[in-house]
Amino acid sequence: MGDYPLMSVFDAREYTGHELILHCRLGDTGHHAIIAIHDSTLGPALGGCRMWPYATDDEALTDVLRLSRGMTYKNALADLPLGGGKSVIIGDPATDRSPELWIAFAESVAALGGRYWTAQDVGLDMEDVVSIARHTQWVGGFDRATGQGRDPSRMTALGILHGIRAAVAHRLGRDTLDGVSVLVQGVGHVGGLVCHHLKEAGARVLVSDLNAARAASLAEALDAEVVSADAAYDTEADVYSPCALGATLNEHTIPRLRVAIVAGAANNQLSVPEAAQWLASRDILYAPDYVMNAGGVIDVGREAIEGATQPDTEARVVGIYDRLMQIFEAAAASGRTTSEVADGIAHERIGHSPLAKKRGPPPPRSG
Ligand code: NAD
Repeated sequence: MGDYPLMSVFDAREYTGHELILHCRLGDTGHHAIIAIHDSTLGPALGGCRMWPYATDDEALTDVLRLSRGMTYKNALADLPLGGGKSVIIGDPATDRSPELWIAFAESVAALGGRYWTAQDVGLDMEDVVSIARHTQWVGGFDRATGQGRDPSRMTALGILHGIRAAVAHRLGRDTLDGVSVLVQGVGHVGGLVCHHLKEAGARVLVSDLNAARAASLAEALDAEVVSADAAYDTEADVYSPCALGATLNEHTIPRLRVAIVAGAANNQLSVPEAAQWLASRDILYAPDYVMNAGGVIDVGREAIEGATQPDTEARVVGIYDRLMQIFEAAAASGRTTSEVADGIAHERIGHSPLAKKRGPPPPRSG
């Protein structure tokens, strides 16, 4: 044995009994991937592949463990016959993407024989998905008939619209979005489409993006107001819709919020689980992110696993309204946070709590 202390994956803070963690060398590209299957009780694990220039391997491991667990909950709440998984490639998407990389990654996915289905996530575009799909069949968001990738943003944005409608109905007692003010933070693929939907529904739209030119051109097209990125948390509105990055709900931002509702698309919005309680104690209704943003995975997952048709899928995405109403009403009746209620529904559906499967104490030594 060498002198180096070995940090076990099973002791990692984000490890909660993940079923399988595969470290992959991606051919001779010099890059590596990690594939994590969190829980496959409900079916094969589905979750996108993220490419990111992680500073350390531990950072990549933390991300894939956290993201794959999130997919277990998202897929369960969306009533999909799918478990949760995710993959990360350690590399810079701006410089390190290559045909060799996608072939090697596809071979790693194929080696799992369908236990894990990959799809597009941050750092990959639809062309990359097509490249991967040439070398493995286990790819969601790819239409084999046309050979084209399917961008999940359209269905994600539709789900966000109906999620905001549900939150407004429950918290403000209003049946329509007419005159309701919504601040959308991040107007990229999803946020931009959400703004269009909101405008059509008669809402007063406020847009905020680090990319000031993007915010300005959308605001002009929709006759919306621009809020600077710095001012987003201090601006008065009925709804704050985080559609940029995660962890925007934290001890610094929550005291500043001047809204009645938080309902957006970003993954992992709560910096820590307690943030749900901080929001509740300020009487701000929180629509759990993984329920809100399931439209994309409903589209990609159903098409991949069930061969579902588009109109049928749209109806399922609109159903996010009813799912959220159920969660809001159960939270109001029980005094639990909306996050606790959502997690509880997932645990019930899976038949156990994946969070409870943290590694136990080591067995006593004999002799
Ligand atoms: P995107 O990269 O197209 O858009 C993100 C936008 O946010 C960009 O315009 C960026 O400039 C802006 N931004 C980044 N940091 C910001 C900040 N601090 N303040 C204001 N603006 C900021 O990404 P996307 O595909 O639209 O996804 C948005 C979020 O939704 C992500 O968190 C993603 O994980 C989540 N999500 C997306 C999908 C999907 O179908 N694309 C599905 C589920 C969840």
